[in-house]
Amino acid sequence: MNCDIIAVGSELLTPYRQDTNSLYLTAQLNELGVRISAKTIVGDRREHLVAAVRNALERADIVITMGGLGPTEDDLTREAVAEALGVRLRRNQEIVAALYARFAARRIQITDNNTKQGDVLEGAEALANASGTAPGQWLDTVHNGHRKLVVLLPGPPSELKPMFEGEVLPRLVATIPRRYFATRTLKVAMMGESACDARIAPIYRSYADVETTILAHLGDIQLNLIATKPTRAEAQQRVDALASAIEEELDDVLYSSNGETLERIVLYHLELAGATLATAESCTGGLIAQRLTSISGSSRSFLGGAVVYSNELKTLFADVPTEMIAEHGAVSRDVAVALATGIRARVGSTFGVGVTGIAGPGGGSDEKPVGLVYIAVSDGTTTEVVEKQFSGDRDRIRQYSAQQALDMVRRRLLVARG
Ligand code: AMP
Ligand code: MG
Repeated sequence: MNCDIIAVGSELLTPYRQDTNSLYLTAQLNELGVRISAKTIVGDRREHLVAAVRNALERADIVITMGGLGPTEDDLTREAVAEALGVRLRRNQEIVAALYARFAARRIQITDNNTKQGDVLEGAEALANASGTAPGQWLDTVHNGHRKLVVLLPGPPSELKPMFEGEVLPRLVATIPRRYFATRTLKVAMMGESACDARIAPIYRSYADVETTILAHLGDIQLNLIATKPTRAEAQQRVDALASAIEEELDDVLYSSNGETLERIVLYHLELAGATLATAESCTGGLIAQRLTSISGSSRSFLGGAVVYSNELKTLFADVPTEMIAEHGAVSRDVAVALATGIRARVGSTFGVGVTGIAGPGGGSDEKPVGLVYIAVSDGTTTEVVEKQFSGDRDRIRQYSAQQALDMVRRRLLVARG
């Protein structure tokens, strides 16, 4: 089963208001195994609303609108849904009488425009609104030969939530077949999104019942696998099967099969190897240390690091020879190696990491352009160093550098384990 959500209100098309209701509804519906096929935000314009509802009816089994159920001129959802479905609105006198009573009880003079809140779609049930005036509506109907559930909810979150939980949820549970979701998140570091997709698309295409999405961000790729099945076990079995097939294909680049962060995986492998790590960071300014120390318990394997931004501190804290800096420049292969070996020797860690580069926007030259970064990992015997040319702004270059360094440590530990 899938559901389209339509948020109604011109205020939601301004920079000042956000459609938060749909996030709430998405979480609630996913719990029932219902997928969201699309979300639409539409202003208070009747013809736009009608078109949005028609589109949704073509796509989804369930259509939920929220907003536009009040008494004012711009509250047009009832009329628009009626037009899209080709059904009439009938005034429910009980609702109107209840509105009069509600106003009378508060000693407020009711205005005539309130009565339109009693207009109900032909065949629909009115849904009680415990916290406001506008009732919601539930319509279980056949439209163009297909069964559709159409639900109209008020816009204010304080009215929508209790109405959804009190009135809509029980009806959905009684009406739709129960389905279960299972998800898996696989993660890949320092690989292009298109290169990654080229390798795995032939695999996930043969799992048509598992939805695969790829999110790439700063050298980190997240593959989300989702299956919906009549039982939890079946759903889990399908995502697990696809996850295993992808794991096999991406063996060399995949770092997590369960959504963990790269820093967590690095710490895990360090601990497993009984190894420790220290860092000497220039252009990343402590980003690697920040990521590692964001994880509780990291002190068991991450000893700490030095931010060695100036030449003086590279020498003072990591014993980089001044002549080396004078000869090769602070951003050089030799200095990266010296930072890694130097910090390692200073603190007595198993591994040392050194990073030096030009994050920009200033400081670049033809010979050493912005984005040039050297990253080294040393265990005292062997030191691996890479030269990278990252693109983008300062923040992006720094993030990529930290990601590359962490991934190098991870790979090094895998090799060490054999
Ligand atoms: P309504 O009169 O039913 O159109 O709803 C108006 C009130 O509900 C306004 O305060 C809106 O900003 C709020 N509202 C309407 N739709 C949403 C939404 N999708 N998410 C959050 N608030 C909303
Ligand atoms: Mg509105």
